[in-house]
Amino acid sequence: MTRLLLRLLWCAVWASATTIAHAVEVKFQPVAPGVYAFIGEKSGRTYGNEGLNANIGLVVTPAGALLIDSGASFKGARQIHAAVKQVTGQPVKWVINTGGQDHRWLGNGYFAAQGTEVIAHASARADMQARGGDHLAALKPELKEKLDGTVPTLPTRWLTGNDEALNLGGTTVEVKHRGGAHTPGDLMVWLPQQKIVFSGDIVYVDRMLGVIPVSHTGRWLQSFATLEALQPARIVPGHGEVCELPMAQAQTRDYLQALRTHMRKAVGTGEDIGAAIKAFDATAWLGLLNAAELHPGNASRTYLELERE
Ligand SMILES: [Zn+2]
Repeated sequence: MTRLLLRLLWCAVWASATTIAHAVEVKFQPVAPGVYAFIGEKSGRTYGNEGLNANIGLVVTPAGALLIDSGASFKGARQIHAAVKQVTGQPVKWVINTGGQDHRWLGNGYFAAQGTEVIAHASARADMQARGGDHLAALKPELKEKLDGTVPTLPTRWLTGNDEALNLGGTTVEVKHRGGAHTPGDLMVWLPQQKIVFSGDIVYVDRMLGVIPVSHTGRWLQSFATLEALQPARIVPGHGEVCELPMAQAQTRDYLQALRTHMRKAVGTGEDIGAAIKAFDATAWLGLLNAAELHPGNASRTYLELERE
């Protein structure tokens, strides 16, 4: 009897330990002195990763911490905040949302309640307003009760320029927007002293990028060219490990460029969309995670965009 009880108890302990092991652990890794990144899972949004399948940045200044993106939910944001506290005693004074995708901004409500100033580019506003409800509805079946308390909360400070230099706690942070990329409000955060760029969804590595209905591949490449001109020492991409320029060029720029060149020609010669997608040679990028799932949609949306140009 006692032995059976012990065995049952052991099974219960083991099962809960496995559950914990599968839950996402938010941990910031150092990128440079005072600069950190949490590298999210490269797969889709799941109950286990709580929609934190994107990278989050952290810059610690002498007068407060800057968080780059707030995560996909209220509870996720609370977890991010706990991870910040492991790194610094500074309060999170600012959040910059790098775009209008759920995991960039649905944690805003949590930080707004802490008195954090939430900043984004004005081009993100209509997109956030239009899609916030859809994001919640799409996350609900995956995140279930982990989505509780999440209310789409818009930023309180909207940047309107292409290039805005912010002085945050004595640290110069440059925000650059070139008309959007993956979403209309996509921007990059450039730290000129450290030569580090937080690219948001302008750069994806290790996994396939997503061209979604609100994306614009032409402006995406313009954004990318702006990032290249900065000659960053390191890039914290929107998705994937911290990298340098050649990797970002190979996995984001070259793919978008090849797609656009191919689809422009197809549209020009009157080739139909199905044939154009089939004729595109995606071999160089099919090894990226999620490629089989995302490439067909990327190809068809690029064709449709070029048809409109
Ligand atoms: Zn994303």
